[in-house]
Amino acid sequence: MRTIHIDQIVKTIEQLCIDANYYINDDIMEELNKALKTEQSQIGVDIIQNLIKNALMAKERKIAICQDTGMAVVFMDVGQDVHIVGGNLIDSINEGVRKGYENGYLRKSVVGDPIERVNTKDNTPAVIHFNIIEGDRIKISVAPKGFGSENMSSIKMLKPSDGIEGIKKFIIDTIDIAGPNPCPPIIVGVGIGGTMEKAAILAKKALLRPINKRNDLNHIKEIENDVLKKINMLGIGPSGLGGRITALAVNIEVFSTHIAGLPVAVNISCHATRHADATI
Ligand code: SF4
Repeated sequence: MRTIHIDQIVKTIEQLCIDANYYINDDIMEELNKALKTEQSQIGVDIIQNLIKNALMAKERKIAICQDTGMAVVFMDVGQDVHIVGGNLIDSINEGVRKGYENGYLRKSVVGDPIERVNTKDNTPAVIHFNIIEGDRIKISVAPKGFGSENMSSIKMLKPSDGIEGIKKFIIDTIDIAGPNPCPPIIVGVGIGGTMEKAAILAKKALLRPINKRNDLNHIKEIENDVLKKINMLGIGPSGLGGRITALAVNIEVFSTHIAGLPVAVNISCHATRHADATI
């Protein structure tokens, strides 16, 4: 049994909130640079160049990549041999988010009650997903999620008979309807299987995978590649102003499901698909 004090959790989450909002991960920067060569519209190329410039400027000046610094989504894999001391784990996660958004000068975008809509003024509470793993470490991923793209996400309970073609159609239709709203070029996270909520969590998790890494399962990899190709034939293009590069990647995660169902969730994210990880 290893003991971890909540102070270490607070400090780690504070830093991850700041890092995720200041720095775009290398895999996305690489794909943006590649997209400069494949985009056929001049305005599309200009927009991608501006996105790259913006990311480099944010890194150099240590400022947020985008004004929408997102709602903090925290994935926490907790080793079953960890003993947390010093206070409540959920409170410590929210304290880390509070400090990160305050000390990193990040916009506070969370309202406490979805109907009354009063800003909590510290970007809490975070959306937290726990997972119990083997070992005596805690792996933390902080993924601030902007809502321009979150709002265009969708979930559908398909019939098993809809099959692969039904899955592809639902993903492509979702992106087509989203049009310019999620600030393309986008990254598409897809969850297939499980129950309704499991599919949605899988779709969110899919966004954490490096965008240059395809699913290990060949039949899923084929769907990822085919759907990406078809999305980029829609003509939406960077910022929705026309062009080939509407999406940089389609990441799909799957889970077992019921004989009577085929849940599919599509979680759209913009080029600022932010996430920072640490293991303590
Ligand atoms: S969708 Fe992304 S780039 Fe657009 S406003 Fe939201 S966080 Fe910013």
